[in-house]
Formats: sequence, C-alpha cells, structure tokens
Amino acid sequence: MPAALREIVNHDTPAGRSLIAIVTSLPFVLWQGGAYVAALNDPSSLHEINADVVGGIVLLMVLGTFIQLGTGLWLWPRRRSPEPVFGAALTLALTITVVFCAVMIAFGAFTSGANLIPVGLLAIGLHLFERRVVVITFATCLLILLAADILVVAGRYHYAPALTGEAFDGTTPAAWWGYWRTWLFYIGTTILASIPLWLYNQLDNQRRQLEELSRTDGLTLLSNRRHFMERLETEMLRARRYKRPFCVVLADADHFKNVNDSYGHHTGDEVLRHIGTLLGGGVRIPNDVAARLGGEEFALLLPETTAAQAQGVCDRIRCQLRDHFFEVDGFRFNVTISMGIAQGLADDDAGTLLKAADRNLYAAKSGGRDRVVSTVAN
Ligand code: GH3
Ligand code: MG
Ligand code: MG
Repeated sequence: MPAALREIVNHDTPAGRSLIAIVTSLPFVLWQGGAYVAALNDPSSLHEINADVVGGIVLLMVLGTFIQLGTGLWLWPRRRSPEPVFGAALTLALTITVVFCAVMIAFGAFTSGANLIPVGLLAIGLHLFERRVVVITFATCLLILLAADILVVAGRYHYAPALTGEAFDGTTPAAWWGYWRTWLFYIGTTILASIPLWLYNQLDNQRRQLEELSRTDGLTLLSNRRHFMERLETEMLRARRYKRPFCVVLADADHFKNVNDSYGHHTGDEVLRHIGTLLGGGVRIPNDVAARLGGEEFALLLPETTAAQAQGVCDRIRCQLRDHFFEVDGFRFNVTISMGIAQGLADDDAGTLLKAADRNLYAAKSGGRDRVVSTVAN
C-alpha cells in the first residue's frame, strides 16, 4: 500500500475516510470515462451510441473528478483530525451519486447490470461517511432514478438514451456493448457478494473487541471484577464436578495510601500497573485468572492448585514486588503486598470462599503485612 494511503487508513478519521472514498471511486470514473472516450473515437461503435449523450456524460465525469480532487485538497490537511467533515463528505457522496445515476440512466440501469451497484455503494458508504450523509445521498439517488423511470414510462424520455437501437442486434447487444455490460454485471455482483462478508467480518471484530474490553481492567489490563466473578462461578462448578482442588487469592497493596500521598496519584497508578504485570506474569493465563477487583485490591483464581502450591506462587510474586525499587524524582522506594489464600472445598459457594480468603488477607495485614496467609476454607 502506498505510504500516503497507509497513513489515512491507520488514522481512521472522518476526513481520512472521505479521502478513501475519493481514492477508491476515481479509478472507476477513469475506467468508465476512458471506455466512453474510446467508444466516441471508434468509428465502428459510433452508430450504436448517441455521441451527444455520451459526450455529456464524459463532461459530467470530468467535472465530478475536479470536484472530488478539490474536496480532496481541502481534506488532506485535515486527515488526522477527529473533527467531522459533513459538508465535504456530502459534496463527495453527492458528486459520486449524481455521476453514477447519470451513467445508469444513460446506459439503462436494468439492461446494463448497473442497478446492482447502488446497494454495494450504500454498504461501502455506511463505512466511509456518517449516517446522515449516506441517507441524504441514497435518497437523492433513488429520487433521480425514480424520476427517470417515471419519464420513461410516461413516454417523455428514451430508455438508455446513450445507446441507439443499433446497440442491440435484435435482442442481442452488439459485441462491445455486450462485453462492457458483462463486465459491469460481474463487478457489481462481486461488490455485492463481498459486502456481507466484509460487514460480517467488521462486526465480528468489533464484537470481539467489545467483549475483550468488557472483561478488562483499563489500568492494569488484567481481568476486571466482573470477569473474575464469572470465572470463579464456572471454576467452582468444574472443581466440584471433577473433585479437583482450586484456590482463590485476594491481594491488597500495603500502605498504598502513602505511595499516593508521597509521590502522587500518577506514581500510584504506575505501581498498580507494575503489580498487575507481576500478577499477570506470575500465573498460567488463560487457565488461571489474574484480576484487579478495584483500587489497590487484586485477586487470583488458580484452578488445579492446592493451597500449598498457591502459597509458592504467591510468595514468588510477593518477593518480586518487594525486591523491585521504583524511582521517582531521585527517590527510591519499594511497595509490598499482603495476600490471603483460600482453597475451595466441595460444598463451598463463591461467597464463603471469598470470605475465607478475605479473612486470611486480614490476618496477613494484622500479622505485619508483606506476607501470605493460607488455610483450607471451612
Ligand atoms: P493497607 O496496607 O491497610 O491496605 O493500607 P492502604 O493505604 O493500602 O489502604 P487504604 O484502603 O487506606 O488506601 C487505599 C488507597 O488506594 C487509597 C486510594 O487513594 C488508593 N487508590 C485506590 N484506587 C487507586 C487508583 O486507581 N490509583 C491510585 N493511584 N490509587 C488508588
Ligand atoms: Mg491496601
Ligand atoms: Mg484496600
């Protein structure tokens, strides 16, 4: 991908998306316009087309191209700005629509296969422009086509005025026209068929991102309380069914208020992130869960783990934290953490288990902090 295009795709701003509309629609205009100019210069096709109408379409395309390029020049310096660009987007979308409708009407929307393309353009438009722009543009497109059809039905206007009767050899179109029409049909069908796939992919990615966000703690990127509680319930059921050991750990940073008071909230957040990294790195994700329950309180869920094994895991993390020195403005300090472990028993529920872990955490605090206390819950 050229660097300029990559830049606008990466930034994903309203102006950038409008620029993408220009970059993707201009080749079609040039390709079609080129075909019309070629037909105008080919003596063998001149009796099959109405040169005035085709010439008019080419002029309209040239005008449309200038409008698009002008709008593109206006958009380019704004490509990184998150500000909406309603006027420019509407100008672009209407220009593309008017040129497109003119081509459809001139060559006969239904016999040229071009009637497939507006639905594809609608879906692409929804991704590039804000909804208002797409609704106005699509309504304009439908009104223009409807008005043209009414005129044709009322006998006020020819169907496919760009073509003469000789474009059709009886019911079979002449070779160049048939060839062109077939290409349009396949391109229209390909765009149409790929759009549901593309949209589905987009929606699926967005759903995945939202799911990930809904279970992640924004500061530490560990699991959040909600995800921890969900996993706790399922792990308890599993442990009960297969009679396997598993442990819950509650952890709380010691004298954390002092960190905030002495070095500021920003440093406090840094420390919390570091604790998050140690907890996340100290367990076997995705089987284990490391979560931030809120504030400076954390939790671990350790399936297939006895209290003795959990003690080993927790002591390792606790020592890593104690031995790490944070440096702020020339000051060095360390932070410690207290932990309470509870091993689940067959008849436990989540509340009982958490209470047992909390009791042990309290015991670790009152026993002097920077320690791990563990019992089998009862
Ligand atoms: P203890 O050893 O008894 O747990 O003492 P402590 O100071 O850690 O406990 P306390 O509950 O008194 O204070 C917790 C502090 O954690 C107070 C609050 O300002 C801080 N805190 C809670 N959430 C955040 C956060 O997201 N960022 C920062 N920087 N601090 C937080
Ligand atoms: Mg604390
Ligand atoms: Mg606390």
